[in-house]
Formats: sequence, structure tokens, C-alpha cells
Amino acid sequence: MGQIVGIDLGTTNSVVGVVEAGRPIVIANSEGTRTTPSIVGFTKDSEIVIGDQARRQLVLNPKNTFYNLKRFVGRQWDELDDISISVPYNVKSNDSGSVRVLSPFTEREYAPEELISSIIRKLVNDAETYLGDTIDSAVITVPAYFNESQRQATKDSAVLAGIKVDRILNEPTAAALAYGFEKSSSNNVLVFDLGGGTFDVSLLKISNGVFDVKATCGDTQLGGNNFDSKIVDWLAEKFLMKYKIDLRRDRQALQRLTEAAEKAKCELSGLQKTKISLPFITTSDEGPLHIEEEFDRKLFESLSQDLLDRLFEPVQIALEDSGWDAEEIDEVVLVGGSTRIPMVQQLVKTLVPKDPCQSVNPDEVVAIGAAIQSGIISGDLRDLLLNDVTPLSLGLETIGGLMKVLIPRNTPIPVRQSDVFSTSESNQSSVVVQVRQGERPLASENKSLGKFRLSGIPPAPRGIPQVQVAFDIDANGLLEVSATDRTTGRKQTVSISGGSNLNEQEINKIIAEAKSKATEDRKKRSVIDRKNNALTLIAQAERRLRDASLEFGPYGAERQQRAVELAIQDVEEFIDDDDPRELEISVSALQEALFGLNRRFAAEKKIENNPLQGIKNTFGSIKDELFSDDYWDDDDDPWDNQMNSNYRNSRYGNSRNEDPWDNDYFL
Ligand code: AMP
Repeated sequence: MGQIVGIDLGTTNSVVGVVEAGRPIVIANSEGTRTTPSIVGFTKDSEIVIGDQARRQLVLNPKNTFYNLKRFVGRQWDELDDISISVPYNVKSNDSGSVRVLSPFTEREYAPEELISSIIRKLVNDAETYLGDTIDSAVITVPAYFNESQRQATKDSAVLAGIKVDRILNEPTAAALAYGFEKSSSNNVLVFDLGGGTFDVSLLKISNGVFDVKATCGDTQLGGNNFDSKIVDWLAEKFLMKYKIDLRRDRQALQRLTEAAEKAKCELSGLQKTKISLPFITTSDEGPLHIEEEFDRKLFESLSQDLLDRLFEPVQIALEDSGWDAEEIDEVVLVGGSTRIPMVQQLVKTLVPKDPCQSVNPDEVVAIGAAIQSGIISGDLRDLLLNDVTPLSLGLETIGGLMKVLIPRNTPIPVRQSDVFSTSESNQSSVVVQVRQGERPLASENKSLGKFRLSGIPPAPRGIPQVQVAFDIDANGLLEVSATDRTTGRKQTVSISGGSNLNEQEINKIIAEAKSKATEDRKKRSVIDRKNNALTLIAQAERRLRDASLEFGPYGAERQQRAVELAIQDVEEFIDDDDPRELEISVSALQEALFGLNRRFAAEKKIENNPLQGIKNTFGSIKDELFSDDYWDDDDDPWDNQMNSNYRNSRYGNSRNEDPWDNDYFL
């Protein structure tokens, strides 16, 4: 059997690691460097070049050299923003709306996953050469906010490279593993990850070897590249003033400027000043023109002020979401090459009053964590429990268009949650399960992840059939939804791999929108709730009437039965009225009538059990019964019984206990 490696498949650079002699190490590539640029290109002979070689041809061959491919993985064309597609190579949509990149040299279009698979293959080949052994499988890291389809697409890339994926691991979790925080009894860790093109903040709670990602936030359009652009703009503006030529319009000059800017930026992480020299950058009527500039850290910092400001908010949001104060953070981990920038390090210290951990190289810390996880899987290292979280709430649409959340936001995964739902109409033969993701109480405001129908439900009064809906998220964050009719055993399952396709920015936007629309949503929800509660009450009343005719016979409790029937008719009459008052009055009347009927039931029971005691205790005990949990857990009633047993098993709160009329359970 071959070995397992850990791979950090980064937007800008990728790194491969392995556990050797019980220690995680990074494996250098065939060019002798420990990080491999995540770039794939084609030469004019249609030969593929990967990593440093591809990076070297970025300037001369921009149309056939593909970088930032991670931004396209698992995403549809119409989900991409303008910035993502403003690359020098051609990106387009194919007939089914998937992203494709075009190489004029090979005259072919490629799926991003296909090109990424060649990066994985190179990393694996180089690691095999180093190890002198074959590699069968890998642990691959992804950003914590990656949705199902992005995770699935990452797995697909590995499969195309001939590698089995043992685990998709969240990048911040990997970084925390690299520092061995799991060995202390409890730790709150902030992972600050500023790479080449993205910024991610994650808050982890690590307790007795269990990793929980409590919150994530970030900016998918902020990274080292933006700092490079600031220097490029400064250089280009100076040149424009002097020679009236905008170098940014000349693709080749722009590439050279970008490379020089990145080099200067990296040098300023260690030096106070540096020189930028670009001979023969362009020509004018007077001959060749050159750039020769002094550039220092102070100037760099003043140019980058707005970028620094953009680092604040995601940290604040993540802290807010986790419910922690900055003082409660025990450890700060710096990840990504851009955290070497001194002003970024300073800023982190002002956000969290802790000296950040920097002993593991920030470019390699994620790969080291992935290697540790691969060591755990291969048995070379002791096992750990790893939990990541869902970035947004997952649920389904119930009657009235309400969102019933089954898995709340920031729930640790893997997780399985199920609940039982019923029909909203009598003799309803099928139910539609519409899976949604988001924070709004109204389902239509949340993103639809997929929809399926479970049919063949035998005819029955509304509220009687029991359809168990289960959401299952595996350790890789892939969601499977199933619906089972408990009477017939008929089952429908869908894997949501086409997923939500939401990036981190969109996730943050959704959360902010849910907060700002909370009052408006609450009003709309209360209208729907009122109607749904009335429907629930009618279903309850109808069930009680059926019980009554079985218990007492058709005329046994005629007065109470008749009162309930009439009250049901009233509620039905007012249910669609705009004026809520009439509905409220009729609902109260039905509750009262039902109370009367239930009193009759209880009286009957008490007389059976103790004919002398019965009447004396009737009122008190029935009143308690009606408003106690036991009433709703009536053993005679399989529906209630099921609902409540689910509630008790559930890991999270459920409003049913607080509100007996809660009606998120009709499909
Ligand atoms: P990563 O995605 O973690 O590989 O980070 C890549 C980014 O880190 C690129 O934008 C690099 O320019 C940047 N970077 C690498 N080393 C340094 C450094 N010493 N100072 C500033 N930025 C750096």
C-alpha cells in the first residue's frame, strides 16, 4: 500500500507534506522550492508546464498561463464576480453554465478542476520521488467557508490526478493542528490567514483534542496581490506623469511591474527601503524608457492604508459570531505569506492582545497540519477528533413559505439532524422537500440548494402521515438530504453536490442582510405563523374529534364534539382574512371548545381509574395536562410522540416545546 500525504492546495501556492519518522515535514518540489505556484500553463508546442515554470511564462505568455484557478473551482459562471474573471487569459461559460478556461496554443478549453488536477499530480509526483514510494491518497485542505460543490470539485480534481481523498480538511483547522494546540486541555484560537488572493479569519475552540470551528469570516478579494497592485499603481502613475504613457495598458509591462512590485513588497518585510529597477520597460519616440525608483516601508504603508482597514471588519464579525471577546482568545496563528508584512502583524496585535504564533512558517503551516492529519489516518500519529462548522443555516421550506432550520449556522460537522414532518392537506399524496441555506425566516429569501418530491403517501387526514426528513453532512462538508415516509418506508435521497456555491463574501452579506431585515421578516413571519398555528390547531382538533368518536361513539360527547366542529368551521372561515382579530377570536374559541372536549376525555379516564376521586381532580389535572409537555407527548398519538422524541434526541433547541402551536412541520 502506498503512502498518504497532506496537500495545501492554495490560491497562489500549493505545498505538500508528509509524516516522516513521526514528524510532519514539507517536501520540496523538483525545482528545490518548498512552495509550488498554483499555476498551470501551455507552451507554444502545447506542452504543459506547472508551478515555477508556468509562473516564469506569465509575462510572455499570459493567454496560456492560468493562475487563481481556485476561485473557479466548483462554481458556476453566473456566480463569478467581475474581479474574479478579470484575468489576462480567457474565461468563459460552457453550454451548461460551468466555468471553462481557453488555451489558444492547445486550442482546447479546460475545466478548472482538470488544470488543478495537474497541480496535484505534480505535487504527488515530486513527493513520490522524494519518498521513493507510491502515494495513493491525500488529505487536502480547503477554506472553511467552501461550500459543498467547491469541496466536491476539489475532490474531483484529486480523483482526476489519480489520488483518493481521505479527508477534506479546513485550512484553519490544519493550521491549529500544526501548532499542536489539541494537546492543551482547552484553547480558543484565532487563525488569521492572509495569502496571495484571499483573507480568512477563523475562530476555533479546541477542547480535549476536539476542534470546533466556531466562526469564519473574511474577504475573498483581499490578499498579497492587492498590496502588489498598490505598488504597481504608484509606479505606473509616476511613469504616466513623467512620460505620459500608462504602462498598465501594456500587458507585458504590467506583468513586469507586478513582479517587481511583489519582489519589493517581500523585501520590505525585512528591510526599511529597497530599489525597484525595470530597464527597458517600454519605448517612446526618444528611445527605450526605464524605471529606477527608491521605495521604502513608510511609503508602502501609506499606500496600503485602505487594505489594512479592510482587515478589521472580518475579525470583528468573526468575534461577534463566536460570542467571544478578543481577550478570550488564547492563541493567534498567522497563516499565509502576506502575514510576513510588518504592518499586518502590527494590526493583528491591535485586534487581539496576544503575540501571534509564528514559529511554523506561515506559507507551510497549513500543509504541516494536513500532513499531521494524514499521519493520523495512516496510524503514524494518534487519533484526534476534528470538527468543522456549517457556514450558514440549512433547512427546508414548510407551509406558508417558512424556513425550518434543521442544522443551524456554525454547527460542528459531521452532523446528522432529522425531524418529522406531515402533510398540510388531507389526502395529500406527495410532499416537496425544498432544501434551503440562509438566515432569513422566510424560505424564499434563502438560497435554494435543491428540491425533490416524495410521492406515494397513502391517503390520510392532514397531519397524520409522518415524513422523516434527514440532513446528513459528512466530515468533508457534503450534504445529503433524505425523506422517508414512515408508513410505507418509501424514501428519496439527494446529494447536494451542486451546492450553494456561495463564497465567503456572499455568506457575510447574507448574515448582514438577515440582521438588517430582522424586524420586517418578523412581521411577515408572524402573519404566516398565525395562519399556520390555526392550521395546526384544526389538525389537532380533527384528530381529537376522531378519537372522541372512537372513545365515546358518535353521540357520546355530542355537545363538546359539536362545539369543536363549529369552532373549526369558524377558524377555516377567517384563516385567509386580512384582519387578524377575527382569526384570533376564532382560534381562542376553538382552543376553548377543544379544552372542553379534552376535559371530557380526562373525566372519562379518571372515572375509569378511580370513580370517587375522578370528578374532584378533573379540572386542575386537565388544565395542567393541556399545557404540559406530556399532553403533546400523548402516547395515543403517534404524530406527537414522534415529534417529541425527535426533539429530545435533537442536539439543538426546538421551539416546539416552548410553543405547542408551533407549526413548522407541515410540507
Ligand atoms: P500564500 O498564498 O500563503 O502562498 O501567500 C502568497 C502571498 O504571500 C503572495 O502575495 C506573496 O507575495 C506574499 N508573501 C510571501 N512572502 C512574503 C514576504 N516576505 N513579505 C510579504 N509578502 C509575502
